This record gives sequence, C-alpha cells and structure tokens, in this order.
Amino acid sequence: MHLFDAHCHLQDAQLASHLDDAMERAAQAGVTGLMCCGTSETDWPLLQGIARRFPGVHLSFGLHPWFVGDRSERWLDSLKTFLAGTPSAVGEIGLDHALDQATFADQETVLLAQIHLANELQRPVTLHCRRAWGRLLELLDEKGWPAHGFALHSYSGSAELVQPLTRRGAYFSFSGSITFEQNRKGREAVCAAPLERLLIETDAPNLPPAHLAEVLKAVAKIRGIQELELAETTTKNARLLWA
Ligand SMILES: [Zn+2]
Repeated sequence: MHLFDAHCHLQDAQLASHLDDAMERAAQAGVTGLMCCGTSETDWPLLQGIARRFPGVHLSFGLHPWFVGDRSERWLDSLKTFLAGTPSAVGEIGLDHALDQATFADQETVLLAQIHLANELQRPVTLHCRRAWGRLLELLDEKGWPAHGFALHSYSGSAELVQPLTRRGAYFSFSGSITFEQNRKGREAVCAAPLERLLIETDAPNLPPAHLAEVLKAVAKIRGIQELELAETTTKNARLLWA
C-alpha cells in the first residue's frame, strides 16, 4: 500500500531531534510520498536539505498567513529564487480570520502576490483557510484562482462549498481532525468531495507522518470504501496535482 501525505512540515523544530526515526516509521507504514510545505522565510532554506535526505519528499515554498507580519522587504524575490531553483509548488499560503483583524489586508496582499507568482511559474498551490471561506471566494473570484490546481489543506469549509470550490480547481485534503467521531461538518465534507479530488494529510508535526494510516482509515470508513482503494486514489490524486 502506497500513501501520500498531502501536507506536512518536516522542517518543524518539534521533529528535528527524531526526524530520521519518524521518517523510517512513515516508510514502514507505507508513506512513499510527502508534500512538505514551507511557511516563512526562515524555514525555506531548510526544505531543500530535507528533500535531499529523504526520498519521496516533494516541496512547496510559501509565506503562511501567521508569518506575514515577519516578512522582510525582499521576501517575494527570495520566494521567487527558491521556486525557480527547485522543482516545487507554492504553499502554504492563505487567509486566516482567526488572527487579528488588523492583519487581514496584509494577508490578502501577500496571498495575491503568491498566487500571481504561482500562475506565472505554472505551479500548483496549497491553501490554508480558517474562518475566511466567504472572503476567500469573493477575493479570488475577483482577482483570480490558482490556475494549476490547488489543495485546500485540512479542509474545514462546509459540504455546500465543496461543489463551487471543485469547479474552481480545488482538491480537498483531510487531516487528523477527521478521526474524531463528533466532527460532523468534516464528515459531511468528506462525503461531498469527489473521489478524484480527495487527499489525506498529517499536517506533521500535528500528527507524526506514520499516523497517516489513521486518517486513511477514518476517511475510508466515512466514504464506505476499502482502505486500499482510497490509498491508491489519494496517492494518484496527489501525484496528478503535484506532477
Ligand atoms: Zn500546515
């Protein structure tokens, strides 16, 4: 069985002391592909080393909404350099309305600049969206969606939004929160998502990479399909999106 972890942060300091061990366990659990997402100018340089150390690791470079306030004046040039010099996608980028409202305008400027860059370089995108679904649709319907596909990581939108987002090119990635029985909204979204747009992720260090099988198990149960079939489908989807 081959599993693809559609979203993780292997560069995170919480994993640094035992990353070799965590990756060996992941390989034993069948995880053969991982999309490792950068979040800030300080972690972009770490990603290339991680891809060299571990086979199967794919990279995305992006400025996460949490770190928008820390960006340097040359952040966009630096991002462009990392993207141009490495086979990679763009992410993790997005909108987070759980943050202070004072940051919203800046978040949008940074998001739009990165989508523009992704489209220019013909790269797919990983989006983070928290409590900002209405605004995300409004903003990107006006300014333009990622043109080469995008993953909605740890999807937390409603089932009703699945169809409009699918039409705009979305893949829906589900994380550890789907393993909680009481997550009704998440379960409804899993059922609404087209099989060919489903992804699974650990968002490591949230879950260790080897625990992707738990997410697989939960999603397969909700959809009423075999784990092996879902493993093949989600791996194929990830490889199509990030080919
Ligand atoms: Zn993340």
